[in-house]
Amino acid sequence: MRILIAEDDFTSRGMLAAVLKKAGHEPVETVNGLEAWGALQKPDAPRLVILDWMMPEMDGLEVLRRVRALPGDRPPYILMLTTKTDKAEIIAGLDAGANDYLAKPFDVGELRARVEVGRRMVEMQDALAESREVLAHEAAHDPLTGMLNRRAILDLLHKELARAGRHADGVSIGICDIDHFKSFNDTYGHQTGDDVLCELARVMTACCRVYDSIGRMGGEEFLIIAPAKAGADANSLYDRLCASVAGLKMETRSGALSVTVSIGVVIANSGDTVDDLVGAADAALYRAKAEGRNRVVFADNDFQGAPPCAS
Ligand code: GH3
Ligand code: MG
Ligand code: MG
Ligand code: MG
Repeated sequence: MRILIAEDDFTSRGMLAAVLKKAGHEPVETVNGLEAWGALQKPDAPRLVILDWMMPEMDGLEVLRRVRALPGDRPPYILMLTTKTDKAEIIAGLDAGANDYLAKPFDVGELRARVEVGRRMVEMQDALAESREVLAHEAAHDPLTGMLNRRAILDLLHKELARAGRHADGVSIGICDIDHFKSFNDTYGHQTGDDVLCELARVMTACCRVYDSIGRMGGEEFLIIAPAKAGADANSLYDRLCASVAGLKMETRSGALSVTVSIGVVIANSGDTVDDLVGAADAALYRAKAEGRNRVVFADNDFQGAPPCAS
């Protein structure tokens, strides 16, 4: 693994590098604290660091403090190298965030063993961080379509409303619901219905722009969040989506099949809450269904007396 060496003494640095190379590692050498601090701020910074205490420009303790103040869930493992045998100073190093320390002049066998402990710790930390990322992804995504799930898309809507409010930008939201999907399932089977949900997710993603967001609200209902500059035309995205779905033969296990969708759209006004907007989009969707389906209906943004969810 790549290991950062921060050591101002030429001989000691050379020895450290030689020992690490011999153990199969790739040493990255720096000659003072400032250079080490620069290297440790890079995104691909080595995960294991051998840090001398006494160095010009910036001492090891200061590097340590700065590194520990950096954000991120994968901090480096730091082995402090010190001539200081005073217990109080060793404690100060450990308190500042060193994982371990080694007294100079170091014993080669001990150095190798302590580096090995560090390597194991880094690997464990990486495995833990990876499983945390997998869990976080699973908690936010729908397993069938891979889209954001209800909680995640509503969280995003909260954030988007706050952001738009700060920048005086517009946001529209659309609730897109497959028409007569129950009878579709009854005719072709639930698994074919699942194929359609996946295909629809793909079509929606293709129709939307990179800064739009889509999530599965549940069942055959999806929420689209589309940020828009003030005065921009929000219709086109939803009209395009509705027409694209209607004109498409979707590949399913029962052959090429078509469905249509109805979309209820609302454009957010400042001060609107997530509940207001979802309620209004639902009401518009209800009207789209009542008016014959396969269409887009815009809410009038009068949230009073909105009828219940259409689906
Ligand atoms: P409408 O045009 O009014 O929306 O009619 P609809 O039949 O689509 O609406 P309804 O709410 O009566 O039925 C929704 C159907 O969606 C019922 C259910 O079988 C189906 N559905 C919900 N989730 C899934 C899913 O994960 N997979 C499949 N295949 N079907 C689903
Ligand atoms: Mg030194
Ligand atoms: Mg439906
Ligand atoms: Mg529905």
